[in-house]
Parts: sequence; C-alpha cells; structure tokens
Amino acid sequence: GHRPYIVGNWKMNGTRNSLAEARAIDRVASKWPQVRVGIAPPHTLIHAMRDAVDSIDVGGQDCHSETDGAYTGDISAAMLKDAGASFAILGHSERRQYHGETNPQVKAKCEAALGAGLSVILCVGETEEQRDSGEAESTVSGQLTSCLPEIAVEEEGESVSARLAIAYEPIWAIGTGRVPSLDEIKAMHASIRAKLVDTFGENGNEVRILYGGSVKADNALEILSCDEVGGALVGGASLTNESFGAIIIAA
Ligand code: 13P
Repeated sequence: GHRPYIVGNWKMNGTRNSLAEARAIDRVASKWPQVRVGIAPPHTLIHAMRDAVDSIDVGGQDCHSETDGAYTGDISAAMLKDAGASFAILGHSERRQYHGETNPQVKAKCEAALGAGLSVILCVGETEEQRDSGEAESTVSGQLTSCLPEIAVEEEGESVSARLAIAYEPIWAIGTGRVPSLDEIKAMHASIRAKLVDTFGENGNEVRILYGGSVKADNALEILSCDEVGGALVGGASLTNESFGAIIIAA
C-alpha cells in the first residue's frame, strides 16, 4: 500500500560539486510524487544538500549512540538532525566490516536516532558463505534479534515503528552486480516481516523493508514488485541523476 521508498547511499562520494547532481535528482523526484526519495550523502554535505533540494529526504550514513562527549570524529543523532537530516542509515555492512560495529552498538545507535526524532534504516544481510550454507534467514533473524531497538511503540500518539525501516542487503550483492533471485528476495522479506510482527505486534506491519545490493534501473521494477519489498537502498547507481533518476522513474 505504501508508495515505494528509494534511498541513495552515497557512501564516501561527493563534494559540493555534487550538489548539481542532487538538484537534478530532486527535479525528477518532484515530478514523481508517487515515489518517496531520499539521499544519504557524506556528513559534510548534509546541510548544503538540505538547502539545495525540496522533494527528497536527506539523511546520514551513521551516528554515535551517545548524545555528546569526548568521541573525536563522531557525530550524534541530534547533530545529524540539526544539520538537516531526517533519517540515518545504521549498521551498514561496511560500518560493521571496516569499523567493527557490533550488533549491540547498532542497536544503541538505532535507539539514539529514534530518540532524537530521526527515522532509521537498519541494515542487515548475510555473507555469501552464510547464504551457501543455508543460513541466510537465520543470520538475518539473529541480527534483528540483536539490533532491533526496544522502543515505545506509541509516543504521544505517534507511532515510532513507522519511523523504522529495515534494509536487507546481502553482503555478496553489494557493488558486485549480483542479486538474489526474486524467490530468495521474497522469502527473506517474508521472514523479516514475520520477525517484525513477532517483535512489535501489529506495529511490525508499519516497518518498511527495503532491498539493497546492485539495484539498477533495469532490475528495480521486478525487485520492487516482490511482496514485502517497500523500496530500495541504492549505492553506486544513486550517484548520478542519469542512473538514480532512471530508478525513480522505473519505480
Ligand atoms: P550498490 O547499490 O552499489 O550495490 O550498494 C548497495 C548498498 O550498499 C547500499 O547501501
């Protein structure tokens, strides 16, 4: 029932010169209001991008779990919000791999971001080895058990679960041009939905589930047409209007 949510993760790409690309993407997004669009640029560009665009959400790629303190180089959820972000991508596999982020840390970050009023895109996904040994769904279910925030489901009449999204990103599909079969995507998303309902009750149905990993304009529509796929988290193909605009139009 939701309109699809297409989110670009720019990773460590982009300087102020890239704002022209963001403006071009924004113009496409403004023409397709039936698609919701977001971009998570590097932290250095959040403020300028928020000023440069009208029709897209701007977000961060990480935040610290504490609100302030002696954490050189880190950024709190409130700082992201202050810079103009409305959401944060948390627990991305590259943060887990290169910065040693653990499930308990990711959970604490999710709780900090939701507490600061941000929306959260929590990333989970299995390695190729786990997929090949039949452990993909149990791996992702275990990540969710450990990372899902313990949230008050309702806060002052607002449903907090509507601010939470899960991104299923199989690690072997990120930046490789390989994607799971549509049956594998459907099975995983159904399993994630069941886990969300198990954890949050009825409100678990409000949590969006995005697919990420080698999404391009030519595979976006078939992936987005799968049951329980509420959008896409796009890396490489989100960097230019030529490729990201085409995904928005395909959606
Ligand atoms: P690619 O779209 O480049 O495979 O990256 C996916 C991703 O990691 C998005 O967070």
